[in-house]
Amino acid sequence: MTQAMTSSTPMPTQTTTEMAYHEGRFCPFSEANISIKTHAFLYGTAIFEGIRGYWLPASEEVCLFRLREHYQRLLDNTKLYYLKPTRPTEQTVEGLIDLTTQLVTLNQHQQDIYVRPSIYKTGLNITPSLENTQTELCIWTHPLGQYLDLTKGLKVCVSNWRRIDDNALPPRAKASANYLNTALMVTDSKAAGFDDAIALNPDGTVSEGSAMNLFLVRHGKLITPAKTDNILEGITRDTIVTIAKNELGIDTEQRSVDRTELYMCDEAFFCGTGAQVAPIASVDNRTIGDGTMGPITQQIQDLYFRVVRNELPQYSHWCTRVHVPSQNHSPVGV
Ligand code: PMP
Repeated sequence: MTQAMTSSTPMPTQTTTEMAYHEGRFCPFSEANISIKTHAFLYGTAIFEGIRGYWLPASEEVCLFRLREHYQRLLDNTKLYYLKPTRPTEQTVEGLIDLTTQLVTLNQHQQDIYVRPSIYKTGLNITPSLENTQTELCIWTHPLGQYLDLTKGLKVCVSNWRRIDDNALPPRAKASANYLNTALMVTDSKAAGFDDAIALNPDGTVSEGSAMNLFLVRHGKLITPAKTDNILEGITRDTIVTIAKNELGIDTEQRSVDRTELYMCDEAFFCGTGAQVAPIASVDNRTIGDGTMGPITQQIQDLYFRVVRNELPQYSHWCTRVHVPSQNHSPVGV
């Protein structure tokens, strides 16, 4: 991890106020505001990442998991939506990593955190067109614990909302507007008494969870919808395919998945940066396995938490560690 400052970025100092990166500088969170005429607010013209940082008490470090891959995905997404950030530091993975590690240092988090960078259209033009509008980057951080239940198994349904399609609102890009689709699914699944939902594609095959990827286990093998099935190409999904193969010798079939496979699998789980590895107990009231976390899901969850906390040296290249020593520690927001 490099702490080098880039010449264009104002030098941050240690602070007891929650800080954000906004319009090219580090500033108090309360000053990181945007106009009600902002293009991204009017039309959803923004892309973002959700990145987790895990607190490692023994070494007093925040371990930012797969920061490089998150920023590579963000920069890849800029091509689709003509969202090239303004300043040179904001245009490279290295520059974005530098800005993020500086912000985490400034905010002095000594707990698990979530890092939320967005690149968005800020121009005040009235049409939805993506050209000739000003683009900005902002980053904020926040403490974040468990997002979904990770032990007892989720009670999920198949959503009656379909997944957005590659030729309409491409799920491959992590665009803010996509999350209206997620919001419909999640809201209605909860109203119907479920914990969350699985989305089907316009053709009726399985896509993913509302805001997470989906794995099934059948006959000892992992199955997950293909990258061409209107999914976000999840970084956790890739992590699981990799560690299942390398550490457990389990292959993953990446292919179209029929709805009925959901009801007949032996185990199922969601995965994602926020979701981590969350077992599914039932789909549409049909119990998966014996309704508790299955043995392969358990092994993958255990491994996952070791990997993200930098406990397996063969994956330490996925961990960007930021030192937050106790003698400097003064939690933000006080
Ligand atoms: N699908 C969607 C729609 C998501 O929002 C997320 C969360 N980012 C994921 C999948 C999982 O992606 P990742 O593992 O990269 O967080």
